[in-house]
Amino acid sequence: MVTATFRFYEELNDFLPPAMRGRDWSCPCARAATVKHMIEALGVPHTEVELILVNGQSCGFDRVLADGDRVSVYPTFEALDVTPLLRVRPAPLRVTRFVADAHLGGLAALLRLTGYDTLYDNHFDDREIEAIAAREGRIVLTRDRELLKRGSITHGCCVRALKPQAQLREIFARLDLRRQARPFSLCLSCNVPLRAASSDEVAGRVPPAVLERHERFSTCEACRRVFWEGSHWRRMRALVDSLMLPEGTASAPADG
Ligand SMILES: [Zn+2]
Repeated sequence: MVTATFRFYEELNDFLPPAMRGRDWSCPCARAATVKHMIEALGVPHTEVELILVNGQSCGFDRVLADGDRVSVYPTFEALDVTPLLRVRPAPLRVTRFVADAHLGGLAALLRLTGYDTLYDNHFDDREIEAIAAREGRIVLTRDRELLKRGSITHGCCVRALKPQAQLREIFARLDLRRQARPFSLCLSCNVPLRAASSDEVAGRVPPAVLERHERFSTCEACRRVFWEGSHWRRMRALVDSLMLPEGTASAPADG
């Protein structure tokens, strides 16, 4: 029998029973079990893991555990300087794009608001989400850790927060999304780029009072809706601005 000692760091502890959080504990492992197999058997989806140290050395998921191994497991995107060490994945996905599961429609719309291409359909089942993620190189967003254990999913995020705005803040912080955000560049309904439109072009498609008061419009080629900087836009702007502030200085508007 092989016994290894495990310790999980930071938010990976959320997946563990309270007695196992934030400390070393020994665990019997199946013969020839890999690190990945054991991490998932203990309840932590492999997509949440960024770095594994066995006896102080970084290793990949396929490392076979030996008796007496000490395993430290660090979360994905944890703000640790681990550059000299080997991460379990060769590189982050170049373009940050998402596919959200059927329960995260609100989060999907808010990610689109900040310019992140996010596929969402409340008819997607787990198999489709897995296939889309593999085919299009998308990061899977879900609250279902079982989904993230599917073999071909390499990049995923298990969302902890319950409400869309809190989920958005969580994902922004964990994936460091501020730098690449392009607010108001995508249609919230269609996930396609908006383009600027002149007042002549949108005349007849917006109320006359809106046409009088506003000069800047944008439109979605897919749903043909027209957007302008009205009161709804200002509320969205306040949310986006609070996300763009450096960590810790944001005054969060009430979730809604
Ligand atoms: Zn649209």
